[in-house]
Amino acid sequence: MKKENYKMLINGSFVEAESKQTLSSVNPSTGQIIAEFPKASIKDVKKAIAAAREAFDNGEWPKLSNYERGQYLIKIANLIKEKAQHLAEIETKDSGKTIKETTFIDVPTAANVFEYFATCADQFMRGKTIPVPANELNYTLREPVGVVAQIIPWNYPLLFLAWKIAPAISVGNCVVLKPASLTSLAALELAKIMDEAGLPKGVVNIVTGSGSEIGSELASNKDVDKVSLIGSTSTGKKVMKLASENIKKVALELGGKSANIIFDDADIETAVNGTMTAIFMNQGQMCTAGSRVLVHEKIHDKFVNLLLEKVAKLKIGDPLEHETDLGPLSSDKQRDKVIESIEAAKKEGAKLVFGGKTPKDSKLKDGFYFEPTIFDSVKNNMAIAQEEVFSLVLSIITFSSLEEAVSIANDSKYGLAGIIWTNDVKKAHVVASGLKAGTIWVNTYGGFHAQMPFGGYKQSGFSKELGEEGLLEYTNLKAVNMDLTIDGMPLVCHWFNK
Ligand code: NAD
Repeated sequence: MKKENYKMLINGSFVEAESKQTLSSVNPSTGQIIAEFPKASIKDVKKAIAAAREAFDNGEWPKLSNYERGQYLIKIANLIKEKAQHLAEIETKDSGKTIKETTFIDVPTAANVFEYFATCADQFMRGKTIPVPANELNYTLREPVGVVAQIIPWNYPLLFLAWKIAPAISVGNCVVLKPASLTSLAALELAKIMDEAGLPKGVVNIVTGSGSEIGSELASNKDVDKVSLIGSTSTGKKVMKLASENIKKVALELGGKSANIIFDDADIETAVNGTMTAIFMNQGQMCTAGSRVLVHEKIHDKFVNLLLEKVAKLKIGDPLEHETDLGPLSSDKQRDKVIESIEAAKKEGAKLVFGGKTPKDSKLKDGFYFEPTIFDSVKNNMAIAQEEVFSLVLSIITFSSLEEAVSIANDSKYGLAGIIWTNDVKKAHVVASGLKAGTIWVNTYGGFHAQMPFGGYKQSGFSKELGEEGLLEYTNLKAVNMDLTIDGMPLVCHWFNK
């Protein structure tokens, strides 16, 4: 790949940072620089916010009908589909995700999210008429919030762009989006697509650069009406604090440490396969990773033996090859953090039963590869079971009753997702209701349908992405109260009538 120099999208123009400073995109499978992109400063971000403000306050976008805005979203979806192969390759080179995942999950799902939200505003952006105890007509209106700042992490760059931008603009907002500096290329490619789709200037602005500098400006700037973050819980806390300066709306989708509960009546092979998807997809760099397996003590040995047998067959390698199961981690820094967590787990007494090292294969020596890693005999109070490792490290914990499984699962500061494997339908419902988490998968993992609301409990955040609820996050609710007195004045106007 020839080294490309990307530009940001501000007010309909592709621009460099005013300082001319750039950041590099490093291919995690080779350690090579593949592209340069702008390192925006606060000055650049202020320009992007001003462009979004102007587009919202004085532009045509919020005044278009939902149908007209939806036509732009359909154009964007079609362009994503047209450029699918190109986008999948860039995403793989920029992030280390396997081409199998970018081709069959990230790119088509991103297009589908734009298609879905193309028609949602008409369906969901509705008010109510509310009976009130007075001779008055009372109704509510849904309106766009205004200028929305959106900040996303590095693990699903293209997909999260779609999750964020599609619902926000479909109801008339104008946005400034900042991708993670580790994986900014998908956003800059999407910027080209926005331009090709003819989106009016200022409706979507993409700025790239450091989170602590420009992310903080997005969260605190008074001209931003809402800040919507997907990221770690520690960044979520900072963003919430910054947003409080002008009481802007906040949406937070944060970290997780989800329990993956295997009951003794489950189909063991299905549960093992699902468990591998839940921890090894995207090298485990998933907020909803099922990183804590809770397995019934009666089936522990059978489950672990089959799991180890299957994990040994996973192919670690070049993420551009379709046969590769596990690509590199996203960065050297991420791999160092993983090694640190593994060493701490060993010291705490967790039993390493698989992996735990950098692979020996000389072909992989320049990339940030790491072996899938499994700890058994984990106690839920160990750091490895409480802290998010955000990688391909699995902890196995045993339980002996349904109540104990639910109690261990809920003993976490996080509450993003839960996974249940059982053939007993009553047990499935009881446990699904008992888990304090925002998404529950039963006998499956990772279904993220555009129609289905997604979001966390506790320190995993409090907002929703996708579905009707995800769309309504980007709206304000207004109540209108109208007097219907035909003869004379309403009662309230007699109050001070002198
Ligand atoms: P991160 O919190 O370090 O960064 C996320 C984004 O916030 C990046 O764009 C970053 O530049 C920006 N940022 C950093 N500091 C900032 C600040 N002070 N003000 C404003 N913005 C700032 O997270 P990451 O390492 O990129 O991603 C991994 C984390 O994201 C994990 O904790 C993971 O669980 C979480 N995540 C959550 C979800 C979800 O939907 N709940 C989805 C994916 C990832």
